Amino acid sequence: MSFTFRGGIHPKEQKQYTENVPINYLTPAEKAEMVFPLLQHLGSPCQPIVGAGQKVLLGEKIGDSDAYISSPIHSSISGTVKDIRPHMTAMGTIVNSIIIENDGELLEHETIKPKDYNELTREEIISIIREKGIVGLGGAGFPAHVKLSPPAGKEIDTVIINGSECEPYLTTDNRVMIEEADRLVIGVQIILKVLKNARAVIAIEDNKPEAIEALKKACGNIAGIDVAACKTKYPQGAEKQLIWAITKREVPSGGLPADAGCVVNNIDTVIAIHRAFIRGRPLMRKVVTLSGGAIRNPGNYKVRLGTKVNDLVELAGGFKANPVKVVVGGPLMGTAIFDINVPIVKTTSGVLFLTEKEAYIPPEQNCIRCGKCVERCPMGLVPTELNTDVLRENSELFVKHNGLECIECGSCSYICPAKRRLSQAIRTTRRVELAKLKNKG
Ligand code: SF4
Ligand code: SF4
Repeated sequence: MSFTFRGGIHPKEQKQYTENVPINYLTPAEKAEMVFPLLQHLGSPCQPIVGAGQKVLLGEKIGDSDAYISSPIHSSISGTVKDIRPHMTAMGTIVNSIIIENDGELLEHETIKPKDYNELTREEIISIIREKGIVGLGGAGFPAHVKLSPPAGKEIDTVIINGSECEPYLTTDNRVMIEEADRLVIGVQIILKVLKNARAVIAIEDNKPEAIEALKKACGNIAGIDVAACKTKYPQGAEKQLIWAITKREVPSGGLPADAGCVVNNIDTVIAIHRAFIRGRPLMRKVVTLSGGAIRNPGNYKVRLGTKVNDLVELAGGFKANPVKVVVGGPLMGTAIFDINVPIVKTTSGVLFLTEKEAYIPPEQNCIRCGKCVERCPMGLVPTELNTDVLRENSELFVKHNGLECIECGSCSYICPAKRRLSQAIRTTRRVELAKLKNKG
């Protein structure tokens, strides 16, 4: 069976810089300023529950919210709260943040205690996942406790563990699957204890043979967990495309994976769930790929949330060339940032430091009506038509032409021989229209 989807592209992978580099730890220096934005997830922001001057411990909860769709924030170091103020994040947004000075001692909070998931009820497991601040670490940061509590009447029969990692340059999931395969399988078993009627499929692109082998070995003969080797094609890791590839089911327009009987979890999210129970730790660390031609030691680094990108660069050995562009995430769906004095947050999967040659985008030319953008759009949209709607400022037509269905994958811009900035234009208008809908309630 071929696990793939319609459309998509084959960008240059650029994973050779880091795919064989084992995960390394980068520990923030004593007195380093750590920044914890109070919104690192999809949903309501947290409120601070500590104040300036207060001492905090590693793993201590420092922000929380009463809202159901939200997720608490924990300190990843021990130290002293210096301030609570708006700060720029690695996602390019300004968010109220708790600033903590690291005391370098890594003194642990009393709440760090392992829990035997075999002795817990489904509700207790979900409650711990919430309390430990676990969110989808693949991009959107959807709170994991919400994902694992499908609405009444939505039966989940398939849990997909997303090991596609289809974005160029990024290699953290690949390394985690190779190095932490056994932990990953325990994390999957915890999820299956919550979603009792489901089977799990660990979906990995077939350009990661070592990870496929490691997971097949770790799964052994465990019933209800399979490994699927998916065709290497971007955006294989996008939720709707992955669900289609594995189950041949479509997520309805405006719907959720649960509408197709599925829950999709990222590799690092499953590892975070493992750590929450087996080691009692809240979400405090993240594996990130630091790559691109400008960084001296590209690699996969386990870093403490709140560490600033400029500190990470220094800890990783600095630059060997001037980065003309810094991208948080992959080059196709990531966000370019202009200031590296920003913290790593729960959803940061990588930071790319690109040289002039890597960042070069040829000038835009007139559309030659080749149809390639239409052929490659994984959502079956007509990007050139949507771009015309944007240029004519006709948002009504944009919505009518299903512009809100765009998953912002960037495939249309990548494939366009005229280098039209299709996805960039579509993304901006889509976000404006979605915000209008949200405000309407
Ligand atoms: S229109 Fe949207 S979904 Fe389609 S290729 Fe472009 S960015 Fe991707
Ligand atoms: S790929 Fe580019 S040139 Fe071809 S139809 Fe689409 S917008 Fe026009």
